[in-house]
Amino acid sequence: MIKKKNLLGCSLESLEDFFRSLEEPSFRAKQLLKWIHQKGIIDFDKMTDFNKLLRAKLKEVAYIKPPLIEESYLSPEGTKKYLIKLDSGTMIEMVRIPEKKRATLCISSQAGCALQCTFCATGAQGFEKNLTSDEIIGQLWLANFGDDEKTPITNVVFMGMGEPLLNFNPVIESAKIMKDQMGYGLSRKRITISTSGIVPQIDNIPNNVDVSLAISLHAPNNKLRDEIVPINKKYPIEKLIKSCKDYISFYDGKRNITIEYILIDGINDSKDLAYDLCKLLSGLSCKINLIPFNPFDGSNYKRSSMTNIQSFKEVLVKKGFITTLRVTRGDAIDGACGQLVGKLKKSIKGKNLIDAREI
Ligand code: SAH
Ligand code: SF4
Repeated sequence: MIKKKNLLGCSLESLEDFFRSLEEPSFRAKQLLKWIHQKGIIDFDKMTDFNKLLRAKLKEVAYIKPPLIEESYLSPEGTKKYLIKLDSGTMIEMVRIPEKKRATLCISSQAGCALQCTFCATGAQGFEKNLTSDEIIGQLWLANFGDDEKTPITNVVFMGMGEPLLNFNPVIESAKIMKDQMGYGLSRKRITISTSGIVPQIDNIPNNVDVSLAISLHAPNNKLRDEIVPINKKYPIEKLIKSCKDYISFYDGKRNITIEYILIDGINDSKDLAYDLCKLLSGLSCKINLIPFNPFDGSNYKRSSMTNIQSFKEVLVKKGFITTLRVTRGDAIDGACGQLVGKLKKSIKGKNLIDAREI
């Protein structure tokens, strides 16, 4: 028996190959992409511009199946967190953050993460699996068509569970569908890949897809970064900054990188480190996003005080860096990714069922 193919995670190019293999014209690929990602239709029988014969042929070799929303939790500020069940039974998370006319979706690229940054709830769980492109784009599909929210998703950030650049091909394939005019039609500015700094794969992005890049820096020197972002031992700061510069040069200097910097009390939030950060980033076309640490069960870190956050920010602004402070929303629903699944796993281990009120 042939193994059927899930077409949800196929980019235009892959669908063209697929239709060619069925000896069908390649324009079918555009039609199918539109049905799935613009109209939210995943039943071949409802695709009215496909004749009966073609539908029967498609059903024989393929199917279209998104993952499942297992639970969703709404915070008082409107942030919505989803627990999503994959076919394998694995749970992942995604978060929807609404703003006036926009809605940003924070999606996962892996279940768990092998990189073990010391401040991260996903890292604390270890690595479970790489998501397929169906499972990645399936999150965006679900947020647009599988839930009762009205505002469509206007921005996507790969800032959920996992390191996107360690699951390179499926991440690129799904980003292509996000960008495609027959898919979600999101511009490059509205799709952000966030990475802890997998240098060879940063170098690989521009040859594959044009999206926005965010670097999770969190420390301005190797000693501290080795400690809190252990992958730094493999790809130290000098190599990372060089790779960022090459990335910008690839686009003739017409790109800006986002530098993410978590503020953890007493660890990386001193004024001296703010000055070091300015030195490190001078000459790099970037903006800085400060993220107050989101505490979670089992972590000894604390969020920096508002006074320290403000004085850290002041140093950067005075030195001329465009600096934003991420408003922490969704604390009540464990806003930082990995926390919900972490809690679920703990409660299963302890044999109590998860209590939604606790979340
Ligand atoms: N692995 C990628 C993308 C997922 S993490 C990366 O590290 O960039 C997305 C962002 O969430 C990163 O900037 C990460 O540092 C941040 N993050 C992780 N744990 C956090 C926490 N407890 N509080 C605030 N931000 C956190
Ligand atoms: Fe992995 Fe990113 Fe969490 Fe680090 S911060 S453990 S790279 S998900």
